[in-house]
Amino acid sequence: SVRELEMWSAAASQLAVAVENARLLREAQAALRVREEFMSIASHELKTPLTPLKLGLYSMERRIAAGQPVELASVLKSKRQVDRLAGLVEDLLDASRLELGRLALNSAPLEVGQLVAEVVDHFRHAFERPFSVEVPPDGVWMLGDRDRLEQVLVNLLENAHKYSPAGAPIAVRVERTGEAARIQVQDHGIGIPGADQAQVFQRFYRARNVSHRNFGGLGLGLFISHSIVKMHGGSLALCSREGEGSTFTLDLPRMAAHEVRRLPRRVLV
Ligand code: ADP
Repeated sequence: SVRELEMWSAAASQLAVAVENARLLREAQAALRVREEFMSIASHELKTPLTPLKLGLYSMERRIAAGQPVELASVLKSKRQVDRLAGLVEDLLDASRLELGRLALNSAPLEVGQLVAEVVDHFRHAFERPFSVEVPPDGVWMLGDRDRLEQVLVNLLENAHKYSPAGAPIAVRVERTGEAARIQVQDHGIGIPGADQAQVFQRFYRARNVSHRNFGGLGLGLFISHSIVKMHGGSLALCSREGEGSTFTLDLPRMAAHEVRRLPRRVLV
């Protein structure tokens, strides 16, 4: 009867609402778990450099009070820990700026080859590892935020270094493609398992072959880099094989020859 039909349809829609509520609850619980897990990892990551830093400073204080010399090596060690802390805090701030849409670019014409060569040079001096760099001799120009692009390069090189065995070479190449300034960073490190490759650009995501104990990290670097590259109208892609290595390819819209010719002289020199 019509009455019975109405009852069944009311029951069916109530059931649908209940199923939907249960799904929403599961989602909210999962989101909470992710957040709690993140809080615990973030606190651990922040605390790791803080403990030795505190001990180091206390011991320097004692030495100075006792009229003993403080070794440069201990100061440098503390400085490295402060740098690491500052880097973590900066990444957390950038991730939140991105989430709130408050990260703005400050773009100007720049030559990609020179920027890349400078960053690679810095890594050569900081680490005992062969870093090679190839850039086109006649320059590749683009409109971009120099500091933010430098941040992306530093992140890609830091990852290549962190996830590679000691002594393995890292190669950086800049080339001009049809419409892009292409930068590639290639390492021969641990690689990224196929199943994780699509997710590594997501916030907080870390591949299953990196454990929090062996390699510190918050899983924010690639999320921030990918976002900065997208804001420039570019793309960031990866090609990797677990156990063999990874190549990250960064394509940024480059300026055409006639646009470069129109740049004021003071920019070009
Ligand atoms: P973090 O290094 O702090 O974990 P990132 O966002 O920079 O965070 O990278 C996310 C994840 O991508 C890393 O945890 C790691 O699993 C993987 N990854 C990134 N770069 C490399 C690389 N060069 N080699 C191997 N794995 C990498």
